[in-house]
Amino acid sequence: MDALDAFPRVKLGHSPTPLDRAPALGAELDVALYIKRDDCTGLAFGGNKIRQLEFYLGAAVAERADTVLITGAVQSNFVRCAAAAARTLGMEIHIQLEERVPDVDDSYRMSGNVLLDKLLGAHLSSFPVGEDESAADASLEALASELADKGRRPFVIHLGVDHPPLGALGYVVVARELTAQMAEQDLAFDHVVVASGSALTHSGLLVGLRALGNNVPVTGICVRRGAAEQRPRVFKRCCEVAALIGKDGCVTEDDVVVSDSVLAPGYGQMNEATISAMAMGARLEALMLDPVYTGKTMAGLVAMARGGSFPSGARVLFMHTGGLPAIFGYERTLSDHLQQFDQAEGKQPA
Ligand SMILES: *Cc1c(COP(=O)(O)O)cnc(C)c1O
Repeated sequence: MDALDAFPRVKLGHSPTPLDRAPALGAELDVALYIKRDDCTGLAFGGNKIRQLEFYLGAAVAERADTVLITGAVQSNFVRCAAAAARTLGMEIHIQLEERVPDVDDSYRMSGNVLLDKLLGAHLSSFPVGEDESAADASLEALASELADKGRRPFVIHLGVDHPPLGALGYVVVARELTAQMAEQDLAFDHVVVASGSALTHSGLLVGLRALGNNVPVTGICVRRGAAEQRPRVFKRCCEVAALIGKDGCVTEDDVVVSDSVLAPGYGQMNEATISAMAMGARLEALMLDPVYTGKTMAGLVAMARGGSFPSGARVLFMHTGGLPAIFGYERTLSDHLQQFDQAEGKQPA
């Protein structure tokens, strides 16, 4: 992995993150459940984006940038983490917030990650479209050239797939870290389950594992778009990441497995399976999951376990990618869903 270590990188988070067991939740699902705690990467509530930003900000520092620009959903964890990272490096941060989720309320617009963006002193702007990645990137580029005209040195973190997947290198690092932890604990996994959104986490982890000779099946749970669109996106990213680290061809098309069984009604929108998984995690393990990513991913894992995807006692690894501030951006939605869930389960009078 010499090629990996040649990329500019700044250390932003706590690592290695813990590799924990979740015995009660595992017993409920008839598997040996392990959790890679990337919600514990530290910096400003942490999460998977801290891993990705180590490489983006590494590039920004190498270019002697003084201003970072990024785009994302209103409750984006990526933009909050980018703001935190920029601050620790003494840089300015411009965040473009896209309207990606329909029918949102005040807590979505004011609390959770948005509140943290403001506390971190980010310059916020809004972008009316949530489903056009190249348009969102173009709008960031326009702002970057305005800032450059004023004498700033901007660095843009792009959203679209027509830019190199630098962030995925953070999950090649995680694959290496995990491999060391497995060796220390004399442990192997039968299956890995991870959220699949921009696909940087999924592709980086998959490429990293394969490059290290680990053939464990990895299932990406679709949180952003349906499987038919996500699968080619993940594969494209895998090929690019493999090329970046000099391991072309280490991932085949068959290695890319995604499931969109718990995506409906869409990105950032709740469903029964997700609230059930969030309640199960919290009540059995005090394991906090978020409504947009990790709650859905755990719901996907639960659906796989109940649907017979894992043999009894299989060792299953859940990647906890963080996202916890969004709980407070979804306060009302979560309370309503939780109440309905508890009533349906007979835990509260109707
Ligand atoms: C962004 C995000 C994901 C998805 O990661 P990608 O690299 O975009 O696929 C998963 N979990 C959380 C908490 C996130 O913020």
